[in-house]
Amino acid sequence: MRISKIVCPFLCFLLCCGCSKSVTQNSSRKQEVGETIQVLQMEDRYLKSLQYPKTGWNELDQTIEKSVQTIEQAFLVSIMNKDYEIIPELNITYESYVKNDRYISVHLNIYQQFDEQKNTMETWIFDTEKKEFLTISNIIDNKDLQNLSKEATAYFKERYPKECNSDQFRSHISAAEENFKHVILKKDRFGVYFAAGTLFDHEAYFEMPYHHLETQISLQNEVIKTYVPYDDILNEPTKNIDPDKPMVALTFDDGPSTRYTASILDALKEYGASATFFVLGSNAERSPALLQRMVLEGNEIGNHTYSHKQLTTLSKENIEEEIVATQESIYGITHKYPELIRPPYGSKNDTVLQCTQGKRIVTWTLDTKDWKTRDSKAIVNYVEKTVKDRDIILMHDLYATSAQAAILLIPKLQEMGYQLVTVSELYAYNEQE
Ligand code: ZN
Repeated sequence: MRISKIVCPFLCFLLCCGCSKSVTQNSSRKQEVGETIQVLQMEDRYLKSLQYPKTGWNELDQTIEKSVQTIEQAFLVSIMNKDYEIIPELNITYESYVKNDRYISVHLNIYQQFDEQKNTMETWIFDTEKKEFLTISNIIDNKDLQNLSKEATAYFKERYPKECNSDQFRSHISAAEENFKHVILKKDRFGVYFAAGTLFDHEAYFEMPYHHLETQISLQNEVIKTYVPYDDILNEPTKNIDPDKPMVALTFDDGPSTRYTASILDALKEYGASATFFVLGSNAERSPALLQRMVLEGNEIGNHTYSHKQLTTLSKENIEEEIVATQESIYGITHKYPELIRPPYGSKNDTVLQCTQGKRIVTWTLDTKDWKTRDSKAIVNYVEKTVKDRDIILMHDLYATSAQAAILLIPKLQEMGYQLVTVSELYAYNEQE
């Protein structure tokens, strides 16, 4: 069993009462601060999946947004008027941490796929009291920078002995400020990212606890509170499904969203209907209560990978990482491993199939294109006109218009005689026939 070390939102609320503006924390392990802004685009010429935080601190949010815009523009310019064998893809994910209720660290992982892969990163530490961005030299003195460099050297020499024997490694690990620009402050430790092309050809990450420092600044360790998931959410409601009557499976990808998923769950509950939610591991960890509710109310949770990269362009190792991390996140919250995997953009090949650990790959038979039209009436009309028995209907619980469409569609499909079942239920009845 895995217990995530994350902060209890209720405790935070109690602690924060009475102060002026404080940092609101989430229950995610890797995204402690900020509401996720999520953008998804599947054009003929490119794929785009962006996630970045909105923290409520203007200076920081503007800096993040500007950086994302610059990356997007550069991406679009570089693919202009060119033909690619593989459809170009831009993927941004983030991590965010808060320390002492004051220092917010945000780290963007930027992944671009043209003819080859390109991984880059952006990192900021923001002091919410002084409204300033900090660099490593604002945080520790030169002697501790040398300690950090020394520990990092020893750590990497053990892991990558061959690759460390190079001038490239030595010059990028030395105690110079510019080598340590991708630093994050966790509750009890520093994290340092090294971009691809600095220490090694690949990215690298190193952590050091604050108590290894000599500098006496406000980096004392904070107590990490622990969130313990429910033990008792395995009693799903029993359902009466009539195999002789038509049925369809509504599916929602890319969530859960803190804004819209609950309203879809409300409607499903009201009409005694079920759906399948293909969640992202990163989003799942932010909203454990929503996942537990999904299971408790008889819905199914599927794996939509951790960070929404197109799997067909990744190495076997990276595909496994995307799938396993999400299986574990969902298990940590619901005590159930998902039986279904839906690859982002529906992209699959033999390598992807080898990495599915015996789980079923699910795509769809009816694409509502809800992410594109953003028009709830158009979505409802399209489904009404085209739906047929045993359809798997693709939607995204990321947009207000999709949630509104779902709320209308649930009773409408039932009026048309369809039972709303989960994907596994749909398969179970198909296989019986
Ligand atoms: Zn998706």
